[in-house]
Amino acid sequence: MNLATLYRLRDGLAVTRSPGGFWQVEDEELRRAVRLGDADAALLQAIDGHSVTAGDLGARLGLDDAELRRRLSALARLYVLDGDRARRRLDLQDARLDFADQCKTSAHKEALEWPLGRDPPQHGCVATGTCCTVTFLGPLTHADRVRVEGLVFRARRAVDDAEQLFEDVDLDGKHYLGMAHDAGSGRCVAQREDLLCDIHAEHGLESKPVACRQFPLRFYRSPKGVHVSLLLACDGYHRSRIAAEPWMSRETEIRQLLHEGASWVRMAVPLEWSAGVPVPVEAWWPVRAELFALEPEDAAQVHGWLAAVLGVCEDRIARDAAALAEGPEVAWPRTLGRWIPALARPWTLYDADEAEAHAGSIAVRAGDLRRRKMKADADRLTEIAAGLRAQCEGLRLARPGQDNEPPGGLPPPLQATPAAWRHLADIVANDLQVQVVLGHLDAGLMALVRRLLLAEALACWSARKRGSALVETTDTTRALHAVYRSEPDLGKLGQILANQGNPAAALSA
Ligand code: SF4
Repeated sequence: MNLATLYRLRDGLAVTRSPGGFWQVEDEELRRAVRLGDADAALLQAIDGHSVTAGDLGARLGLDDAELRRRLSALARLYVLDGDRARRRLDLQDARLDFADQCKTSAHKEALEWPLGRDPPQHGCVATGTCCTVTFLGPLTHADRVRVEGLVFRARRAVDDAEQLFEDVDLDGKHYLGMAHDAGSGRCVAQREDLLCDIHAEHGLESKPVACRQFPLRFYRSPKGVHVSLLLACDGYHRSRIAAEPWMSRETEIRQLLHEGASWVRMAVPLEWSAGVPVPVEAWWPVRAELFALEPEDAAQVHGWLAAVLGVCEDRIARDAAALAEGPEVAWPRTLGRWIPALARPWTLYDADEAEAHAGSIAVRAGDLRRRKMKADADRLTEIAAGLRAQCEGLRLARPGQDNEPPGGLPPPLQATPAAWRHLADIVANDLQVQVVLGHLDAGLMALVRRLLLAEALACWSARKRGSALVETTDTTRALHAVYRSEPDLGKLGQILANQGNPAAALSA
């Protein structure tokens, strides 16, 4: 008797050629069409209308065990194979559609959730003006444009045509309106020599564009409401953290911003621990509480916290992935645990040659921005390139309570003040709250590791540049500013990792 698992295609799916000539799975229940490569299309066609074993498939398509295992696992993650995984995903489709409807309503009446943690990140504006010197000064709402056009202020008096107050920016093929840059200084046309805002000075805070008032607040929307966190990019973060009012006192301000069209990001519902491991929204919140319960009292232990988070999450994902597996050939690639050693040895994280090439390309872009008088962004990119090189050279902070003897050839580790450690722990507290579920929990955690380690190396580079072996808040503030303003460049770091082993070998049911 053959006890091998039989694989089936989910009911109602059709493998077809699209009008463009590529293979796809048409999926009416999940309202999508999934594009396929030729090999995966052949595999699905071999399964379509049959119940087949992996052995049958391998023999018919000429695939060895490892290749078959890899392809079946990838297809399962697309919810096209019949089984508990697809059933759970289909059960969550209503929640997805309900949330899509919820997001059509204004966010300003939703429940607000404040930042979490023992000493949550916080911010009170100290008017550094550095938020007005970025490449894109927007997006402006229609009401912003009408209001600003109608105001009389220094810059408005200086230009003949109101159009010159604004600029149209193309981001990934979409057009957005922002405040224009002054051709001479590269700053916002409304920003004065003392870095303060003309509109604010002459007409009050409420007259400024919503995006200007929103910075550095970051809003995520989930079925539970609006989650408030920070873009830790304020160049006065240390002072602004001290100057902050309690979060609860900002409720009216935040609701007004949301009412006026402040931008927010919609959480991916259903959430997935990892690609193809869906989780009901209600199940995420207890896990998040579990992760914050691991937060150490001492911020200097932030690496230990993140290592513990990685371990808990890897076990949780592995458990759910195994429970949902369609058969023994379908597995989940365990990757999170591999990042724990990198927390102690950050210089091992990236392929050295690729990191140097990436740093070089960032430095070239910095030079280009400098020629275009975009000094703030040019400085930021210069620092990101320096931070990446510093990380690869082994520049790092001493881990309290650990053996910090530098391996041969590496520089000795630097020390940090408690407040500087607090800033680094803020990265974890701030991003763990919601960012990890924007895509997949595992991908979010990996991005968090990269961000923390780069910020640390950059802060060390900054201290050393000052001639100090002690990292202070001036260094961490600047490091946070650079990394939080450089999302695309940080995203690319995920593509230059040092050899993380054979992905197929990492598959584990
Ligand atoms: S409008 Fe004012 S607050 Fe907004 S970017 Fe320009 S100077 Fe800064």
